[in-house]
Parts: sequence; structure tokens; C-alpha cells
Amino acid sequence: MSLSFFNTLTGKVEEFKPLEQGHVRMYTCGPTVYGFAHIGNFRTFVFQDILRRYLKYRGYEVLHVMNVTDVDDNTIRNAQAAGLALREFTARYIEAFQVDRELLNLETPEVVVRATDHIADMVKVIETLIEKGFAYESNGSYYFRVQSFPAYGKLSRTDFSGIRAGARVDADKYDKDSARDFVLWKAAKPGEPAWDTPLGRGRPGWHIECSVMSMKYLGETFDIHSGGSDLIFPHHENEIAQSEAATGKPFVRYWLHSEHLTVNGEKMSKSLGNFYTLRDLIAQGYKPTAIRYLLASVPFRKPLNFTLDGLHQAQQSLDRLRNFHYRLAMEKFPAGENPAFAERARAARLEFETALDDDLNTAEALAAIFNLIREGNTAMDQGEFRAGDRGDFLDALKRWNQIFGVLDDKDHEKLRKLGFVQESEPCGIPDGHPRPPAGTLSSQEIERQIQEREQARRRGDYARADQIRQELLEAGVLLEDTKAGTRWKRR
Ligand code: AMP
Ligand code: ZN
Repeated sequence: MSLSFFNTLTGKVEEFKPLEQGHVRMYTCGPTVYGFAHIGNFRTFVFQDILRRYLKYRGYEVLHVMNVTDVDDNTIRNAQAAGLALREFTARYIEAFQVDRELLNLETPEVVVRATDHIADMVKVIETLIEKGFAYESNGSYYFRVQSFPAYGKLSRTDFSGIRAGARVDADKYDKDSARDFVLWKAAKPGEPAWDTPLGRGRPGWHIECSVMSMKYLGETFDIHSGGSDLIFPHHENEIAQSEAATGKPFVRYWLHSEHLTVNGEKMSKSLGNFYTLRDLIAQGYKPTAIRYLLASVPFRKPLNFTLDGLHQAQQSLDRLRNFHYRLAMEKFPAGENPAFAERARAARLEFETALDDDLNTAEALAAIFNLIREGNTAMDQGEFRAGDRGDFLDALKRWNQIFGVLDDKDHEKLRKLGFVQESEPCGIPDGHPRPPAGTLSSQEIERQIQEREQARRRGDYARADQIRQELLEAGVLLEDTKAGTRWKRR
């Protein structure tokens, strides 16, 4: 099967064919940096990471541009409240965002750009829109005349006979010819940051930022543009209008939108106050990779309702995955090989690739790998697994992990490096800790430690639980978590 995506623009699942063979140019709307990003935001960023990783896995060279919105009403308001210059204020949250990205194993896009570094480019595009009759000035601000762009509404398939209230663009009180028109450039207000430009003193509107930065780095027409579904209207609709009016060319070929992360059925959002940041969850003992796992586990077009219970389960699934990986890498198997297992590992690989080809069906891709794990564990328990089968299984896991990025247990190492955990705190990393030599632990002692690990897991102390697992492993004891409880055996 070929790679296909649901394209919001056409409302259909379509085979993906980039403009230039072997190359993908894609743009993702980045964060608005006026506070820590919440894990709803990260649902979208994790989806986009899986997207870029899978495109690369499929052999494409990816040029991915992400912006940072470092000037808008929210950033200005919060910078003022903090008593800081805008750039100084946003720099803090840009840095925090980069730290969070590293913790969540998000790859860095090839180009990451700040809106305030592109003011001159934005002014040029607005001038083009004025020249072509798509934009007008009113009291020092500039607006896009929606009526002049008949295709307006094609992405969201919105009926504009009524006026949508509450859209972010309408929040500012400026004088427009029509309520549908949206702002391109805002005249300076006293006390707000502003730039002196040929358009006058002011600052850009939010929508023009993305049109300009995407086209600057990716060309007037490019392959993929993506964001959360809240951006379809008005943000992406407005981007299409601005870009296509300015260039006369199609702007984007595939629009991919992720569904929201919800809490009790409501969108997780800063304004509703129902959000968790990554830091909130780390402080409660959850692992960044378990959060990544949870966010990646539901296909991007399905809503995902966040609960701490769901996060517990994600962490347990991840343990199971990692336990199998350890077992595969460390257990001594009888010599020889069983060709049926090599075949089984190859089939699992094909299954997860087929799932991801189908509009990035991550749930199916996970199921494919967990079926392999279950069968692998059974074969090992029954003594059927051979040393020569190890390579095929490891290869399947490694390939799967190129996309999911959760197999390596580097959480604590990273949390230490980034200052979330003190040097002196135990964190399950074996280096420097004395370990009993293999085979010296009594069965009773092993059972006792398993019980302690179980209690740690129940109270959500996954760091301690992991430490125990790691210590047992160092002592030559392998754990396997099953539905019936934790089983163990000596290596
Ligand atoms: P913002 O920082 O508000 O500009 O948002 C950054 C990204 O997060 C955008 O792609 C939004 O669509 C996305 N986003 C915001 N809230 C959620 C949510 N609850 N679930 C999924 N994505 C979200
Ligand atoms: Zn955008």
C-alpha cells in the first residue's frame, strides 16, 4: 500500500505524492510563547514528529519549517504583566519549549523561525496584497478584504452567511469594512511593542506570520501544512487567502489536522484552565516518554481524552515493551534459529508499516508490535526461541522505534541533565551503584523486591519502580509484566 493522508482541503484520504520526487516540504504552526506549552499542544507536536519521522522512514528527504509566534495579543499582555521586554519574555518560553521537546524526543525541524525576525518579509507581502486590491488601510491598520477572495472558506467549508463570533482574529477592536475581514497589520498602540515600517508603525497580525514564513523557506506552493484542528478556521483559512491572493498559485497541497486532546470531553486549553504542562506531570513522577507514548497511541484524527489513569496504563505498556527489549537483548537462548520467527518478525514490520501508511494509524502500529512481543515472550518461555532469532526481532523493534521513539530509557538521564532531578537523587541508572553479583539474590528477596516495585507503581512512583527493575536486571533477574502479575526468571 502507498502512503496516504486525510487531506482537510479535499475531505478525503489521498495518496501522498510530493511536488518533487523524494522530497517533502512541510510547515507546522509552532507554539505561541506566552507560557509553558500544555500536553494538548504536545499532542499535536508529537503527531507532527511521528509524521516527519515516518516520511523519513519512507525514504523522503524532509524540509520541515516550524515558526514560533513571539508577537501577538497574549505574548504582549503577559510580557507586560511580567515587566519584561517582549523579546526577553518570549526567549524564556522558547527555551522552555526546546527543553520540553528534548524530553519528549521530538526531532528538531530543519528550520525554526521567530515571527519577529521576519517583520520586513511580512510588510512586503502586505504591500503586494494592497497593490493587487486584496487589502486596505483603516486608521493605520491593514485588513484583508475577504470578499475579494471568492475561494474563502474552501478549507473549513464554512458558511459565511452568519458571522462567527469568538474567533481569535476578531478579538481586537479595529475598524474594518466588513466583520469578516481580518487584520494583516495592527497600528501601534501606546505602550505596545511596534516596528517602524513603510506601512507605518505597528505590528503584524497572527495569520500573516505563517503565510510569510512558510513561503519564504518552502516556496509559494509546498506539500504539507499542519496544526491542531482549532487552526482550520480562521487561521489556516486566512493563510490560504493571503498566500493565494498574493501569489496567484495554490498554497498547500495536503492539509493535515490533529484532533484535540480533551479533559472530560472538553478541549484542553489555557483559557479553560484544564491543562497539564509536561512539567506538572514530571513533578508527579510521570516519565516524559510515557507521555509521548500516550499522545502517540491514538491516531491523530481521533479525539484523545486525557486521564491520569490512561497515563498509568501507558507507562505500564511502555514497561512491557522495554522489558521485552531487555529480555531480547540480554537473555541467553539456545543456539540455532527458527525460520518461522524470522518470518514472524518481518510480518510484524510489514503490519506496522501498512498501518502507518494508512493515514498514520498509530494504534494499529502499536498493536502490531505488541502482538509480536506477546508471541516472542511465549516462545521464550517455552524454550522455542533461538539465539539466531534475536536479530530479526531486534530489527523489527528498532525500526518501529525509529517512528515511536520510546524504547530507550533515557528519561532520568535527561531529567538530570536538564536539572529536573538532583544529582544525588536515585534514578534507576546503574552507573556507579554497587550491585550484587548475578545469581546471589534469593527467590524470597526477588519476590520482596517485586512487591516493592508493585507498590511503587501503585502510588505512581515510576522512578522507584524502574530503579528496582534495573537493579534486578543488573543482578541477573529478568521481569515480565503480564496481566496475571509480574513474572521473573534468572538470566
Ligand atoms: P498555540 O501555542 O496555542 O499556538 O498552539 C500550538 C499547537 O497546539 C497548535 O497546532 C494548536 O492547534 C495545538 N493545540 C492547542 N490545543 C490543543 C489540544 N487541546 N489538543 C491538540 N492540539 C492542540
Ligand atoms: Zn500558523
